[in-house]
Amino acid sequence: MGSTEDTKGPNGTLVDFTTFQNIIDGSLHGSTEIHQGINPSNGKPLWDVPIASADDLNVAVAAAQRAFKTWSKTKWEDRQEILGKIAAEFGKYQEQMGELLMLEGGKPIQFAKIEAWAAGEGLRYCASEGPFADEVLEDDENLRLTMRHTPIGIVGAICPWNFPLAIAMNKIAPALLTGSCIIVKPSPFTPYSVLKFAEIAQAFLPPGVLQAMNGDAKLGPLMTEHPDIAKISFTGSSATGKRVMASAAKTLKRVTLELGGNSASIICPDVDVNKIAPKVALGAFYNSGQLCIASKRLYVHKDIYQDMMKALIEVVKGWKVGPTSEEGLMLGPVQNEMQHNIVKGFFEDCATNGYEFALPGEVGKSDGFVIQPAILDNPPDESKIVREEQFGPIVPMMKWDNEAELLARVNDTNTGLGGAVWSSDLEQAQRIAKQIEAGTIWINNNEMPLSRAYFSGHKESGIGGEGGRLGLLAYMNTQVIHMYKSDVGRS
Ligand code: NAD
Repeated sequence: MGSTEDTKGPNGTLVDFTTFQNIIDGSLHGSTEIHQGINPSNGKPLWDVPIASADDLNVAVAAAQRAFKTWSKTKWEDRQEILGKIAAEFGKYQEQMGELLMLEGGKPIQFAKIEAWAAGEGLRYCASEGPFADEVLEDDENLRLTMRHTPIGIVGAICPWNFPLAIAMNKIAPALLTGSCIIVKPSPFTPYSVLKFAEIAQAFLPPGVLQAMNGDAKLGPLMTEHPDIAKISFTGSSATGKRVMASAAKTLKRVTLELGGNSASIICPDVDVNKIAPKVALGAFYNSGQLCIASKRLYVHKDIYQDMMKALIEVVKGWKVGPTSEEGLMLGPVQNEMQHNIVKGFFEDCATNGYEFALPGEVGKSDGFVIQPAILDNPPDESKIVREEQFGPIVPMMKWDNEAELLARVNDTNTGLGGAVWSSDLEQAQRIAKQIEAGTIWINNNEMPLSRAYFSGHKESGIGGEGGRLGLLAYMNTQVIHMYKSDVGRS
């Protein structure tokens, strides 16, 4: 992967997929400090990437302030058109972006390409959304009451490593569409795809509208403290989300927090286990379980429990799991050493407590962070693997019998991000879905967010949400004008 004739950017310059710079005020910026992401498939360092300083952030915020004055006043339709152009340009780099996402994130190539496509979908969705009309709430002989939505200002986007580009795009595209300027901080584990996207997009945007900076542990807190950033859109763990909110409170920044979860997948007795097993397996293990809305607990009706377990094991055993240098993979490694150790801790806790492994899995046997998937057979409700977010390829399956008891167990968690229900009786499925205390539920499909659907966490899974038309409002202030029609002129 490198600079070739067919990777020429819109200005005729080469887009080099082997060098990475921060994007500040419309141009490429290095730094005296650098680091490298680690290829999770072999544990080896990838390319150099600059670490932005506090000064870099101040320069970026000042550039965003200048840009906001005009960008916020461009016509909505013009911004739609620009997003469409960026999407078209970005579409030319799907191969390279797919490969980049594979190398930095550890996804098998076909899934890395799906992430690149999903990022493009985020752009295309926003490019297709028209403006919010001023709403007339009331209009009579005394009063005209109208409501409108205005761009929020400078947005700081703080992103995780599991879907580095797709999640960043869920923040970039709505912020740009609604007239805000955005500074994106990718996770230091996966900085490359976001920096490269921001570089490609510069040709279509005034300087300072979209900026991206890789940083160390200091950059996120500097952003949440910065007095001139109006909003933080954060996706990451609930623990960090709480720190972000506490820090943002000092300047009363708006926050959107998309946080962790411990979603349940509920399987009713009327399903054909062989029909649903491939999708239930995907729901639990896609991206080696590193998906915020993955099925992290499986609850299967006791009458089909053994059959479902057998069908699920058959599917997962048929997958090839390994480093992304190998072909025909279904699952790659977990993304980083820290996460590898967290998941290893779950394996060890289950083994120490004598919980039954229906599928044994395997951890710590490769140079990279590959973990062979494991399924636990009916561990107790109070076990760590049931109560905590594992974010890796080890999943507990439990029996249920009574619907009310099941829902009490499913909802007995301080998180509420997602959930799935599987039943051939759609009435029953919807009844159960509506009683799950979580922001998004899937019925008869594995968990896949859609750009056009609002996405939010209940309880400690988040504050506010993103996606869909409602998500656009998260990047806007609302203003109501009370216009009285009384005569105030000089008589
Ligand atoms: P994380 O919380 O460790 O880091 C997320 C980002 O926050 C990174 O960019 C990191 O550098 C930055 N950060 C760390 N400390 C900070 C601080 N004090 N102030 C500001 N920024 C700070 O999360 P992660 O390990 O990258 O991601 C995994 C977690 O994210 C899981 O819990 C997963 O469920 C969750 N997640 C949620 C969603 C969602 O949409 N709800 C999506 C993906 C991942």
